[in-house]
Amino acid sequence: MNRAARRLIITGNWKMHTDLVEGATLVAEVIERTESLALSADLVLCPPYTHLTVAATQLSGRSISLGAQNMHDAPEGAYTGEVSARMLLTSGCRYVILGHSERRSYFGETNESVNGKVKSSISAGLTPILCVGETLEEREAGQTEQVVGEQVREGLSGTDPKTAHGLVLAYEPVWAIGTGRMATPDQADQVHGHLRQVIAEMFGDDFADGIRIQYGGSVKPENAGALMARPHIDGALVGGASLDASSFEAIVRAGLGINGG
Ligand code: PEP
Repeated sequence: MNRAARRLIITGNWKMHTDLVEGATLVAEVIERTESLALSADLVLCPPYTHLTVAATQLSGRSISLGAQNMHDAPEGAYTGEVSARMLLTSGCRYVILGHSERRSYFGETNESVNGKVKSSISAGLTPILCVGETLEEREAGQTEQVVGEQVREGLSGTDPKTAHGLVLAYEPVWAIGTGRMATPDQADQVHGHLRQVIAEMFGDDFADGIRIQYGGSVKPENAGALMARPHIDGALVGGASLDASSFEAIVRAGLGINGG
């Protein structure tokens, strides 16, 4: 299967930005600008937890999907401040971002804890977007493929790809997130190709051919087209630029190779 046969998937990760009113306004603007484009690409918005039910109402019956930025791996229990997969699902989420580098570096998430979340997201019926990526030190030490390979192998250990609801990977070099410094399309595509190979070793060539791998790290309208034109780059996980509906629209258009607005 080549790149053209895999449907593009572009996700906006809002992180801890926008209050409820600003969030609802942004969802409305994104709908207005991108709903027709969502016929040609999967578009996913991941606002903060507090915005999910309002956003779900706004997106109801539309072709843009809702996702969350994290979850706990337990189905329920005494975990003050945490949110389960079922809570996300019943709040209207279809996707959940797991193992984002900010979760790994600020909140101590490990490949093992991410694996627990991946498994429970799948069993609840959510589609995980599993994030992997190397630090600058790891890249400079020539360890990129080893690090991201381990993150994928351990993150997906014990999962059955057939039940994974279209599992998505996101390659996000840590040094490119929120820094304005992005991997070149060649650098990113090389890592994506390696990830596809790791998936082939784990789950077979057919599954590896079909899995979608997003690139994330300072994606903007100006660089999005060149990235998503590469053979192994099937979309983008967009942080900062997803907070502006016109930038998000421009990124989607660039990914689809459509000019103008
Ligand atoms: C992200 O949130 O995953 C991200 C890549 O952020 P940014 O686009 O701001 O670098």
